[in-house]
Amino acid sequence: MSVLLVFEERGGRISRTSWEAASAALRLAPANEIIAVVIGAQTESLATEAAAKAFGKVVRVDHPLLAHYTSDGYCAALHELLEKEHPAYILFPHTYQVRDYAPALACRSSQVLIGDVIEIGDGPVFTRQLMQGRLNGTYRHTGAGPCFISVQAGAFRADLPDALTATPIETFTPTIDATQIRTRPGEPFRGSAQTVDLGSAQLIVSVGRGIREAENLPLVEDLATALGAELAASRPICDNGWLPMERQVGSSGQSVAPKLYLAVGISGAIQHLVGMKGSQCIVAINKDPDAPIFEVADYGIVGDLFEVVPALTEALNGAK
Ligand SMILES: Cc1cc2nc3c(=O)[nH]c(=O)nc-3n(C[C@H](O)[C@H](O)[C@H](O)COP(=O)(O)OP(=O)(O)OC[C@H]3O[C@@H](n4cnc5c(N)ncnc54)[C@H](O)[C@@H]3O)c2cc1C
Repeated sequence: MSVLLVFEERGGRISRTSWEAASAALRLAPANEIIAVVIGAQTESLATEAAAKAFGKVVRVDHPLLAHYTSDGYCAALHELLEKEHPAYILFPHTYQVRDYAPALACRSSQVLIGDVIEIGDGPVFTRQLMQGRLNGTYRHTGAGPCFISVQAGAFRADLPDALTATPIETFTPTIDATQIRTRPGEPFRGSAQTVDLGSAQLIVSVGRGIREAENLPLVEDLATALGAELAASRPICDNGWLPMERQVGSSGQSVAPKLYLAVGISGAIQHLVGMKGSQCIVAINKDPDAPIFEVADYGIVGDLFEVVPALTEALNGAK
């Protein structure tokens, strides 16, 4: 049994989420049965970076037509590699790019992608979240053919030990030609710009959709001011343009680790949690006692934020 682990590049390096996927791969097979794949044109430095960790081997899928990402190019090249290696599992980090091409790649092998996996149990059984994290679904691969898995950002720790001796590197040159590639790449999607450095803030008050309208934001701004805290938000608040994108916390926003993270009207979707679960003390205010945010909270206030927040602000101002 072997596992093909497809790495993704960010800024000339293997991305953090790829290393998380590597940890997930180790739940499926020992390191010597894992084939780490880097893909692109001129992949030498990525391959060297991958080879510093213990894998069975590193494969450079290298071709000038892979210099820029296209779904057609990646599918064609990786499908050829699958035909050669016949792995039992193919693992990816669950990124925008992977979401674009991995389902199509799985289809070529008459399979589906089990996407956004947060846990791998014995069997193996793959766990995904459903309905904004309120339910977990477990999935088992049955039948012949490889099993395609993508792994959610933040679900596995990216802490692989270095290899004692460098992993061998092979080069695989797919036989793709330009007629197979029907699209031309545009600018890659970028998460929020980081002009506000929430990462070094010690106190953060973060607001979510529970606030209902932009007009209600001064309520949490007053609380942040009373605490001397930075204001942050969940994604819907920034998507609506109520606060700038650089105040977004989560998988497509900033990662924060303050002494205090006060989450106001935030449900605790996994994409939000991955950006703040390293906070030293998490306090959540939510009217729903079953909100997932309470699972990571050190202190929880089940109540209406429109009552709790002004009371807290008043108490803080009164104590000054
Ligand atoms: C690829 C991808 C990337 C994403 N990246 C991010 C990211 O970086 N950051 C992020 O935050 N999200 C991200 N998301 C979105 C994420 O999945 C959730 O949709 C989002 O975090 C939900 O935001 P929320 O908790 O503010 O809203 P909701 O999930 O709508 O929760 C609102 C909460 O407010 C509570 N509430 C309502 N009224 C009151 C009241 N009066 N008093 C108290 N509580 C109240 C409700 O009980 C509820 O729990 C991403 C999603 C995808 C697919």
